[in-house]
Amino acid sequence: MLEPGAVIGILGGGQLGRMLSVAASRLGFRAHIYEPGINPPAGDVAHRVTTAPYEDLAALRAFAASVDVITYEFENVPTAALDALEALRPIRPNRRALAISQERIAEKEFLTGLGLTCAPFAPVGSLADLQTALARIGAPAILKTARLGYDGKGQARIMAAADTVEAWETMQGAPSVLEGFIAFSHEVSVIAARGLDGSVACYDPGENVHQGGILRTTTVPARLSASQRSDAVLIAARILNALDYVGVLGVELFVTPQGLIVNEIAPRVHNSGHWTQQGCAVDQFEQHIRAVAGWTLGDGSRFADVVMENLIGDDIARVPALARERAVSLHLYGKGEARAGRKMGHANRVVRGIT
Ligand code: AMP
Repeated sequence: MLEPGAVIGILGGGQLGRMLSVAASRLGFRAHIYEPGINPPAGDVAHRVTTAPYEDLAALRAFAASVDVITYEFENVPTAALDALEALRPIRPNRRALAISQERIAEKEFLTGLGLTCAPFAPVGSLADLQTALARIGAPAILKTARLGYDGKGQARIMAAADTVEAWETMQGAPSVLEGFIAFSHEVSVIAARGLDGSVACYDPGENVHQGGILRTTTVPARLSASQRSDAVLIAARILNALDYVGVLGVELFVTPQGLIVNEIAPRVHNSGHWTQQGCAVDQFEQHIRAVAGWTLGDGSRFADVVMENLIGDDIARVPALARERAVSLHLYGKGEARAGRKMGHANRVVRGIT
């Protein structure tokens, strides 16, 4: 269990790193951010920032030597960087969680191996593979690059066999996976945490609405039956235990009449968990810091209904009006330029306290 004054190393300095740094400092820790980009959002609130690329092994070693534990706010840290860091300090959540969530095929094999349901899928490495896979899975389907963060270039819908050539070109030769299209009624996610002692705490599932591939709102409570709600929590707990996970995990699920289907997992705090800042005694950021610091997990039970709305691009102009609204909490990320699609902040609207 880390003592006050200990240093939490965080790979990545975006808004998630920023909110993790605030949570760390609230618990008396210091956050040290490692981030290749200059002026990261987390830099305003962290104790220390290292600005260096993930290929700079000397900078990585110096960073590791200066912290007590290492965590991360995004999945795409290169393997060589992780090797250098792990030789010096514990990385939480662990390497296996990271490796699985970095690669969609490994992720789906892991999830289906646990007995969980994913969309039907097939690995695709060529146009011929794609045609064979489509013949098996059937249209409509979605082709995705297997590795996340392949420059965001990465999804093509296939409505019929005639679409395969164009879809394969979209992947630019990258190893990919074809997924059957799930006719879901809505999308939900569970944010869950596991402590160093193996205890698990799940937040209430949230219902997510995306626009143009970007999360727009999360609403709690989600529209789920009591049994779907407990299924969602059991799915998250099964994943956490199987990975011997330490920290917060996000699990995205499709809701269908046949049950819950796992879309993907994120080994970190998650945008769809921002509502916990106003809906729970211990939010996902504090929960993550508690877990990686070896503390007891906090109480994640929900005491309010909340709608979280992302402020994207020009939405930032609505801040003065939102600031006048009662029951709205603003969380702004300190980003200078409001480019289209850029997450500038979020607003948590507490709809009703639970009495
Ligand atoms: P992903 O990048 O895999 O999270 O996909 C982004 C969004 O695309 C999801 O939140 C869904 O709205 C949609 N989507 C992804 N995969 C599927 C699928 N197999 N069937 C239907 N919709 C999907």
